[in-house]
Amino acid sequence: MTYAVPSTVSRIPADCLPALLRAMPKAELHMHIEGSLEPELIFALAQRNGVQLPYADVEALRAAYAFTDLQSFLDIYYAGASVLLQEQDFYDMAMAYLQRAAADHVVRAEIFFDPQTHTERGVAMETVIHGLARACKDAQAQWGISAGLILSFLRHLSEEAAFDTLHAALPYREHFIGIGLDSSEVGNPPEKFARVFEQCKALGFHLVAHAGEEGPPAYVWSALNVLQVQRIDHGVQSEKDWDLMQRLADTRMPLTVCPLSNQKLCVFPDLRDHNLPRMLAAGLNVTVNSDDPAYFGGYVNENYLQVFAATGMGAEQAYQLARNSLEATFASPEQQALWVQQLDACFESMAA
Ligand SMILES: [Zn+2]
Repeated sequence: MTYAVPSTVSRIPADCLPALLRAMPKAELHMHIEGSLEPELIFALAQRNGVQLPYADVEALRAAYAFTDLQSFLDIYYAGASVLLQEQDFYDMAMAYLQRAAADHVVRAEIFFDPQTHTERGVAMETVIHGLARACKDAQAQWGISAGLILSFLRHLSEEAAFDTLHAALPYREHFIGIGLDSSEVGNPPEKFARVFEQCKALGFHLVAHAGEEGPPAYVWSALNVLQVQRIDHGVQSEKDWDLMQRLADTRMPLTVCPLSNQKLCVFPDLRDHNLPRMLAAGLNVTVNSDDPAYFGGYVNENYLQVFAATGMGAEQAYQLARNSLEATFASPEQQALWVQQLDACFESMAA
C-alpha cells in the first residue's frame, strides 16, 4: 500500500454503503466500447444502415446473451458490432457509454476499441477513430468526464495483422493514448505479439494486455516480462501462482478486474466466490470495471454494488478500489491528485 486509508472509512454507516459506491468518484479502465452497444442501439443502427441481423427483435437478441465461456460471448459480440458503419455510429455508441459512465460518477474512462473488428468489414480506420475521438471531446465538454482511447489488437488474429493495424492507425495517433490486447485468450499467449508491442513501446504508447482471465498465470508473467505492460486486464488467475502474486503486490501492478463479466463467462459462476476481496487483502492493486456492460448485465456501479453485496466488502475496500482506479489511470499525477481530493471529500460527506 502506498497510501493511508483515511479514518472516515470507519465512520460510514453500513446502510450508506450502496449510496457511497454510486457517488464516489472512480475511473473505469477496462471497458470495450463495442461491448457497450445495447440491443436497442444495435437495432436502431441496423435500421439506419440497412443491415440485416440474425435476430428477430431486441428481445430475441437479449435472450441470446446466455454465455458459457469467452468464445460464446465473442461470437455474439462480433455480430452486434456489424451494425457500425458510419462515423456517426461510432460517435453515438461512445456518447451513450460516456453519458452512462458520467452518471455513475466515472471521472476518467480509458476505453478499448478494436479497429480490426471494423476494418475487416471494410470500415475505414479514420471512420472508427474520428467518431470515437469526437465523442470523447464532446463528453468532456458536456459532462466533465475525461476519456482516453486504447487501441486493442485482436489476439486470435496474427501479429502481422496487428502490425498492419498499427500502421493504419498511426496517422491518427494523437487520438489514442495506448495499446491493448484482447479477444480469445487461451491458445494466443502474449508473446505472440512481442515485436509489435516492442514497437508500440518505442513509439511512446502506454501498454496494457488482457491476461489471466481464462488463461494461465504464465500468460500474466509474459504480459509483464515480454510485453512490459503497465496494467494487466483481468489477471484473476494470478491467484494460482504465489510468486506471481508477490511480483504483482511488490510492483503495485494494476489489475483491471471485471466481476460481472467473470460471473457471466463462468470464470467465477457465483459472485460470492470472486477473489477480488482476497486479492485486495493480499496487497494487490485491483480495480473494478465493467468490461462489456451491455452484454454482462451492468455498468461500473452495478459491478461495485453486486460484488460488494455478494462478498460483504465494506467502506475501506470501497475507498481502496476507487483510489486504486484513479491512480492507475494514464492521466497526469496532478490530475490524479485532484480526483483523490474529490474522493476524500466524498467519503467525508458521507461519514457519520
Ligand atoms: Zn475485456
